[in-house]
Amino acid sequence: MELLAPVGNLAGLAPALAQGADAVYVGLKDDTNARRFAGLNFTPDELARAAQLCRDAGRKLYVAINTFPQPGQEARWHRAVDLAAEARVSAVIMADPGLLGYASRRHPDLERHLSVQSSAANLPALRLFQRQFGITRAVLPRVLDIEQIERIAADAPVEIEVFASGSLCVMAEGRCQLSTWVSGHSPNSGGACSPASLVRWQETPKGREARLNGVLLDRAAPGQPGGYPTVCKGRYQVAGQTQHPISSPCSLSTLPLMPRLARAGVAALKLEGRQRSAHYSAEVTAVWRQAIDAYRRDPERYRTDPTAQARLRQLAEGQTLTTGPYLNPWQ
Ligand code: SF4
Repeated sequence: MELLAPVGNLAGLAPALAQGADAVYVGLKDDTNARRFAGLNFTPDELARAAQLCRDAGRKLYVAINTFPQPGQEARWHRAVDLAAEARVSAVIMADPGLLGYASRRHPDLERHLSVQSSAANLPALRLFQRQFGITRAVLPRVLDIEQIERIAADAPVEIEVFASGSLCVMAEGRCQLSTWVSGHSPNSGGACSPASLVRWQETPKGREARLNGVLLDRAAPGQPGGYPTVCKGRYQVAGQTQHPISSPCSLSTLPLMPRLARAGVAALKLEGRQRSAHYSAEVTAVWRQAIDAYRRDPERYRTDPTAQARLRQLAEGQTLTTGPYLNPWQ
């Protein structure tokens, strides 16, 4: 299984490669990717440099161009695909059918991966994207359970990539409007769920308050952990009780599921977190490198390493780990 690490900017590339990433994924410095935050992402020159560094190291570099072009704005997304092709990256990750069509016509030799943002969650959908646009890999949505992933992987016409670690997105990806409702900005076309420019933290006598565009999403008592404020992980008053009605702050760790994912034939394990620091990316990559190598050495004796889980927990939202929907009995 390929270990695919998140890299936020050029400074984060060398640490991720040094910790054993087989491949990395990045975005350009605009709204063509779903992690548009200040200080993140790559200029065209930086992308060309990163692609060369990855080629020299024998690793792969993928570019996420996975937001949805707005009507009349398609040229910017087309330019992003052209830049990726010029930089000779290993693949582009896309969700929009029009953009996939552009890439397949204009750059037929540039590999195309189907982004999680397309929310393609069944075999007919994957077959359609493969037939129409020649995708070679699909990233499955983070709402499927392990048995559904196994069933899809068994007959998939393309390589399957799944999220192994990091933040969860509990809605149909590429469709969520929760952030738009509060901030007025769409993660699906603008590239940021909870744009940092609209986030405010304030210490108050009742605790640390987190607001998005002035709307209170969370209040954490002193010493209580809290994550980056997104609407889906907000703490609200429901039926007289303060609770996380949609999702609590926690991060995915599928370390316990490694044998099943490997046996299912999953081609790549994706680590979420391009918006996090270079240290985060390197640390999570190191943990997963060790785990994959341990599994490869002796699949029968592989066990989840509690030390590895503890390292991931330190970096997790709310310092809490979950297997998320993978083992959920409900959908
Ligand atoms: S609000 Fe939550 S579910 Fe919606 S896009 Fe953001 S992280 Fe995903």
